[in-house]
Amino acid sequence: MPATPSWPPNSTPRLFVDEELREGAAVHLSGQQAHYLLRVMRAKAGDAVKLFDDISGEYLATVTAVGKRDLTLTAEAKLHEREEAPDLWLCQAPIKKDRFGWIAEKSCELGVSRFVPVLTARCVVDKVKQDRLRSHFIEAAEQCERTALPEIAPLTKLEAMLKDWPEGRALFFCDERGGLDFADAITANNGPAAILIGPEGGFTDEENAAIKAHPSAVAVSLGPRILRADTAAISATAIWMQNSGDSDWN
Ligand code: SAM
Repeated sequence: MPATPSWPPNSTPRLFVDEELREGAAVHLSGQQAHYLLRVMRAKAGDAVKLFDDISGEYLATVTAVGKRDLTLTAEAKLHEREEAPDLWLCQAPIKKDRFGWIAEKSCELGVSRFVPVLTARCVVDKVKQDRLRSHFIEAAEQCERTALPEIAPLTKLEAMLKDWPEGRALFFCDERGGLDFADAITANNGPAAILIGPEGGFTDEENAAIKAHPSAVAVSLGPRILRADTAAISATAIWMQNSGDSDWN
């Protein structure tokens, strides 16, 4: 009979708080976060909780008061500064909701610094709920121990994104029609980077040509098979992180 894990899990709960933290600060939690701590983690006065704010870093906090639906903590020792995320943007055409949310969650775990939803001709989804993206990032960051959340850019048309592309940032255009070996292209284009992934239906010929004509664009291949957009987004991000990101725990 497999041992049943002790409940609640004995790991210290870790939560994002949308307010700047400092040592000694009192933090009041209600709503879902309070429910999670009170009902799932059965937190009581004196228990430890890790809090991070995507501004100053991560703190070890102690529960000081427990109510029916809320609780108060005091942020005590600072555990980590806010991370310096590797300078990688993921420029992703919106795809169907669940898979788009999956891309957001995985790209946060992998460490992207900015998420740019890009509207292209074949997008079947033409709206992006920023708050839903943010909740995917918060949940992923709480789990994977990030202390920073990816920035979320507003939904941007491909043409406008190319027009305003920042000087000095390589735009790795993942092209299922073929391109450079990605690892070689990363080595040849060290520095701030972005990965561009199309929608379920891919880019049109005109879009493909416009992207390739951009001076910062480097067309790269992720192999001989046609990957789903979500597969392509996460494999490309992982390849970049291994070659140019912070793949080692330092
Ligand atoms: N055009 C195909 C279609 O109509 O099904 C596939 C598009 S694919 C699902 C979506 C995106 O994933 C592409 O726009 C591209 O950015 C990326 N992608 C898929 N396979 C790839 C590969 N082997 N190499 C590079 N990028 C790829």
